[in-house]
Amino acid sequence: MAQTFDPSRLLQDLKNGKRAALARAITLVESKKADHRHLAHQLIQDLLPLTGRAIRIGITGVPGVGKSTTIDTLGSNLTHAGHRVAVLAVDPSSTRTGGSILGDKTRMARLAVDENAFIRPSPSAGTLGGVAAKTRETMLLCEAAGFDVILVETVGIGQSETTVADMVDFFLVLMLPGAGDELQGIKKGVLEIADMIAVNKAEGEGALRARSAASDYRAALHILAPKSPNWSPPVVTISGLANEGLRELWQQVLHYRDKMQATGEWNDKRSRQQVAWMWDMLQQRMMEALKTNSKTAGRLNHLEESVRAGKTSVSLAVDELAGLIGLEN
Ligand code: GDP
Repeated sequence: MAQTFDPSRLLQDLKNGKRAALARAITLVESKKADHRHLAHQLIQDLLPLTGRAIRIGITGVPGVGKSTTIDTLGSNLTHAGHRVAVLAVDPSSTRTGGSILGDKTRMARLAVDENAFIRPSPSAGTLGGVAAKTRETMLLCEAAGFDVILVETVGIGQSETTVADMVDFFLVLMLPGAGDELQGIKKGVLEIADMIAVNKAEGEGALRARSAASDYRAALHILAPKSPNWSPPVVTISGLANEGLRELWQQVLHYRDKMQATGEWNDKRSRQQVAWMWDMLQQRMMEALKTNSKTAGRLNHLEESVRAGKTSVSLAVDELAGLIGLEN
């Protein structure tokens, strides 16, 4: 890629919304090579004025709840209404399984062939932090390419829900009707970070059970302290399969945006997310440097072993490593 690569051309093509250019830019962002990364960072810097205009929505729920079905239907509704929709995924398990099941094009048949949609599976960048960093950058690239709705899909593995909630404006939790919390593997924390709950599979005979589940979730949310004094997370019932309730769901998203923009919380949250991202990235970069730096890399394993064997104290080992990269005590 490096030899035939023309950064200004890529920049122009991306600004013109060319999907091939977007795919190329994302490949650059996801590359492990230092020169690619450098180019990617410069590209994002150059594109910065064009970013930030999309509505960023995180979507989570247990496997089988209907994430891909709902994203396919909601996304198609939105492209029909003139939006351009990007679907990204954060799946830290993709490193182990060798591929992400999230953001899989075969699971979103309509969006996959929709020219106003762009689907990207999860990067497999190792840690959740690594995956998240690349997804954030990809989000900016999508915005610069003119996508005005970004949907970030994740399953609740470890910290991935919180990580996604921290990179989006609005966090949507999908639930199944008629199953208790335990059955759905719902961690209490997920209710705390939800901006809306949608009980899926609510069409036909499922409607009654879905409504009953919805009132359970309303009661559960009621006892939690709201994240914002200006927003009580609504609970809606939808059918991703039958395209029911998705118009109301979208109205709520717009209502949220209007309210948060009016109170200034929208921009405050984004600013906070930017700064938190900076610290995340810095922390990761420092750790990476420690592991690859010629002075420290060799000592790391040795010291780890020595600490494990109880021969060296933790503080002494850390002092030595810090000293090797020039940090004073
Ligand atoms: P994901 O694992 O969360 O992405 O879930 P999928 O979208 O793959 O859906 C899992 C299963 O539930 C599939 O068989 C879907 O057809 C089905 N499904 C998804 N949404 C609905 C819905 O609204 N109603 C019904 N009845 N089935 C649904």
